[in-house]
Amino acid sequence: MAAITFRGLTKRFGVTLAVDRVDLSVAHGEFVSLLGPSGCGKTTTLRLAAGFLRPDTGEVLVDGNIVSSPEAVVPPERRRMSMIFQSYALWPHRSVFENVAYGLRLRGLPRGEIWRKVLAMLAVVQMEGLADRYPGELSGGQQQRVALARALVVEPEILLLDEPLSNLDANLREELRFEIRRLHQEFGITMLYVTHDQAEAVVTSDRIAVMQAGRIAQVGRPEEIFERPRTRFVAEFIGRTNVLPGVLRELGSLDLGPLVVRAPNAPEVRVGERAALCVRPARVRLRDAAIPEARGGELPGVVERAVYVGDAMEYLVRLAGSEHRLRALTPPDQRFRAGQAVLVALDPARSVLIPDEAG
Ligand code: ATP
Repeated sequence: MAAITFRGLTKRFGVTLAVDRVDLSVAHGEFVSLLGPSGCGKTTTLRLAAGFLRPDTGEVLVDGNIVSSPEAVVPPERRRMSMIFQSYALWPHRSVFENVAYGLRLRGLPRGEIWRKVLAMLAVVQMEGLADRYPGELSGGQQQRVALARALVVEPEILLLDEPLSNLDANLREELRFEIRRLHQEFGITMLYVTHDQAEAVVTSDRIAVMQAGRIAQVGRPEEIFERPRTRFVAEFIGRTNVLPGVLRELGSLDLGPLVVRAPNAPEVRVGERAALCVRPARVRLRDAAIPEARGGELPGVVERAVYVGDAMEYLVRLAGSEHRLRALTPPDQRFRAGQAVLVALDPARSVLIPDEAG
């Protein structure tokens, strides 16, 4: 078993509050991503987990045992954890084999066993033919595979990964995302993964913890975070979304000023309060206003911009009689032209209402 728990974890650097009362539990064998913009405290949280930093307040526990507190920190090498950094941190003057073997040699394993384990792990990351190469003779993706092998070969119970794919090109990132997920499933290791890339977090994780200014804004399964964001920050950070701010006049109807739209119920928003309706562009339905067909609840609008984006069309639509603009993604064969009058359907069941903290 290797569950990791943060309880009220706080870390300051001078006047900067990098990590602010973070509570999070990662279950044994679970894959959790810390996702957030630059400077929100992700790396600091990971370094606190690894034992490289001492918390100002709060604790890190592994299987219920305190491994970090303001009083004492169990050093990284005694934590049954491995950490993978952005920079891979391979030793340039050691071969691939020696890079991977290092942790096993430190533990004093017999030569035959080291040989066997290293070769088996290189096969897992599909690098078995390159054991004699040096890091300088490898591509970025191959170096990253070596870093993964080196971290996994010592059979850690917890693997901490800090933006491990950030130096790779888009195709390789995508390939290695699935690779990391596969390794997680194969080894069942508890993983905590830092990234600012929402697509990466969605593909790899069992749960995502979205961080904002040192705090965890929301934790949940990728679909929950995507479909049910609880704050505007989370809604806007995870993928693109339309945000329509207004006032909840009565249950089910949000007053946007000149317009009223149907809204789902949300326990956090009471009648009379400010709120924002968040609708993903792919959830906005458009149809030609010239085709007579009465359907309730549609809003008239005008297409301001139409862009072909390959597998979809992206439209910017201004709602008539207002300054509100919505993005809509439609199948590529559903074409409207700029200036065309359309009717916009916003299905309350496919949107979320959140308190409008931005006012
Ligand atoms: P990024 O995605 O850019 O790596 P991050 O979310 O990982 O960002 P952290 O590296 O944890 O963020 O930094 C959180 C805050 O703490 C930032 O304001 C950063 O400048 C500050 N910080 C981090 N490490 C130190 C340090 N050693 N000394 C001083 N300030 C630091």
